[in-house]
Amino acid sequence: MSSRHCLVTGANRGLGLAFVRGLLARGDRVVAACRHPGRATELNRLAGLHPGRLHVLPLDVTLARSRDELARELALVLDGAGLDLLLNNAGVLRGGERFGQVAEADLEQSLRTNAIGPFLLVQALAPLLADGRAVVANLSSEIGSIAGRHEFRTPSYAIGKAAQNMGTVLLARALAGRGIRVVALHPGWVHTDMGGPAAPLDPDEAATALLRVIDRLGPDDSGRFLDGQGRTLPW
Ligand code: NDP
Repeated sequence: MSSRHCLVTGANRGLGLAFVRGLLARGDRVVAACRHPGRATELNRLAGLHPGRLHVLPLDVTLARSRDELARELALVLDGAGLDLLLNNAGVLRGGERFGQVAEADLEQSLRTNAIGPFLLVQALAPLLADGRAVVANLSSEIGSIAGRHEFRTPSYAIGKAAQNMGTVLLARALAGRGIRVVALHPGWVHTDMGGPAAPLDPDEAATALLRVIDRLGPDDSGRFLDGQGRTLPW
């Protein structure tokens, strides 16, 4: 199979960077989007090692102008080819607040970054997605599962990811007619800035497992919530 065109958001560190490494290792073409390309030292180093195969472009997923600009730049990079994989990876976890202390600013930032931004990014990039084969993978979390919710934990993040999950299901419906699959993925607890040092999973390991799950997606898997072993999680 010829190399695929992939876009990863929040690609400068953590899982996003691990996705970029994993995709490059298997020969794909990657657009790595991040807020500050000038400061993305590792991405820029990788771009030097893979000329023409890794493009680093700016994206703040919460800003309409930034999403639109990415859509324009991406069209130039794709040069008529379709986008095969959109990894909506950028996310934020702020405030582990207790009830009574949940801050409006944290809720707003979580909704904008974890739910609204990824949804609108898919809408903006939809014309560039390859009919019949593209996959949109939204990095979710089991913390956003309503059915699996048993305790009051990281409420801003949980609400943002739950909203993202609804976005995933709606996008799966919206894009079904074009044969484009849309899924929510839970990577497990990963050792990144967000996951913290106690997390058991290495980012490269987690990214590799999720890329394998994406590779094995069938048409009936669109609109599902899956973990790194391909198991279905409750919404
Ligand atoms: P990190 O906090 O390590 O990295 C987050 C990334 O998102 C950074 O690249 C950050 O960019 C980017 N980002 C944040 N806000 C924006 C924005 N407004 N626009 C563009 N980019 C933004 O997180 P992880 O790598 O751990 O997580 C990646 C994804 O996986 C997230 O969606 C997260 O919710 C999910 N996840 C992670 C788990 C874990 O255990 N780590 C568990 C379950 C889900 P910048 O450097 O500019 O801040």
